[in-house]
Amino acid sequence: MAQPEQNLMDKIVSLCKRRGFIFPGSEIYGGLAGTWDYGPAGALLKKNIKDAWWRAVVETRDDMVGVDAAILMNPKAWEASGHVEAFTDPLVECKTCHARFRADNETDIQAHGAGHEKKKEHVEWTEPRKFNMLVEARLGVIEDEKATVYLRGEITNGVQVNFKNVVNSTRVRIPFGIAQMGKAFRNEITPGNFTFRSREFEQMETQFYVRPDEQEAARWFEYWKNERMEWYVRLGIKRENLRFKDHAPGDRAHYARAATDIEYKSPFGWAEFMGVHHRGDWDLKRHAEFSGADMSYRDPETGETYIPWDIETSAGIDRSLLFFLIDAYAEEGERTVLKLHPRLAPYKAAVFPLLANKPELVKLARSIYEDLRKRFMVAWDDRGNIGKRYYGQDEIGTPYCITVDFDSITETGHPPSVTVRDRDTAKQERVDVRELSAYFSERLSAA
Ligand code: ATP
Repeated sequence: MAQPEQNLMDKIVSLCKRRGFIFPGSEIYGGLAGTWDYGPAGALLKKNIKDAWWRAVVETRDDMVGVDAAILMNPKAWEASGHVEAFTDPLVECKTCHARFRADNETDIQAHGAGHEKKKEHVEWTEPRKFNMLVEARLGVIEDEKATVYLRGEITNGVQVNFKNVVNSTRVRIPFGIAQMGKAFRNEITPGNFTFRSREFEQMETQFYVRPDEQEAARWFEYWKNERMEWYVRLGIKRENLRFKDHAPGDRAHYARAATDIEYKSPFGWAEFMGVHHRGDWDLKRHAEFSGADMSYRDPETGETYIPWDIETSAGIDRSLLFFLIDAYAEEGERTVLKLHPRLAPYKAAVFPLLANKPELVKLARSIYEDLRKRFMVAWDDRGNIGKRYYGQDEIGTPYCITVDFDSITETGHPPSVTVRDRDTAKQERVDVRELSAYFSERLSAA
């Protein structure tokens, strides 16, 4: 990794820790590789990403419904979906110290070899072998009878097994989709690049069922590729930092007939943060075979019965969040600012009384704060000098800072006004207190 980019990642990791976005998992115990904990600002950012996504794919569409399936499933579901057999990465092991790497991770393998060579040690690697990434757990209350189950390796299966339940309990008709988000777990051989590759992470996915017809599937595949890309652009990711990357036939997952990744130009190179996959009838057919359940769909108008094809969009929430952060990060003179889209920003506004020991200022500021927080996530800060408070809010991406100063309370004959500072321009303007609510409604409307 080139030096400036490495610095940028270090700065992002340090900002995340300092400002409460992301902490290493179980840090006081020395951590647990591949796990991360979201702090107060990070939890809000993550929630805002999920809310914006759910709003876009479920709430504003007639052709999509949402589910929330269990993480633990009957293990047969994972045999049916092919994960027990084929959810593998190629692994190589250093014969000298038994360190393990993904065979396609050339950078780390070379660096590891160089480390041994420096100590004049000979390096030999094992042949690549398949390593299954499903995480096992033991479920049950009687020690001897505990069943081995899997923590889901991707969230797709919980949707597929409920295909008929959804059709039978709602008014959906093909073409339609089912959306879901939630945790997934993978025994990643080499977790790394901060949250980019974790062992526990969250996904947000849509499975969109269409008639089994090549043209129809191709049309929806194109539609979802573009729709998803545009969603990220609408939420502020710079278009020049995004690209599509088609999978060559040999690189596709076992279930995919066609696959395109959406990649982000990250400090560690172009990197996948979501995929669009034409899964064909793989899932429903296999679940029908393995469970004996009928997974076919009957068209109510034509009477035609078929197993639909599935066009999937699968995005990592943690990777999306990381890329939203990187893309929003800017250093301008003395300040560091996260230019997050207001829809995603943890706090929409911060309210400050200029001085904490002046009751008139505090009282007015408090009433503005109480009023705005009924509708938006608003921060309160009355500590330290005002410049520091601005910089603190810039670093967590708060779009507006409202300061109640002496002019707010001494303008006799005028309704009280406050200064509103814009995060991106650092410019301030005076706004009548009675207009604040409308002022923010206009600027913070949902994406
Ligand atoms: P990669 O090639 O990076 O291992 P993948 O192709 O296996 O990813 P998918 O199985 O298609 O990924 O999963 C869909 C999405 O889930 C990915 O685009 C990514 O955003 C997210 N994801 C997958 N694995 C991880 C992980 N270990 N940590 C964080 N997010 C992940």
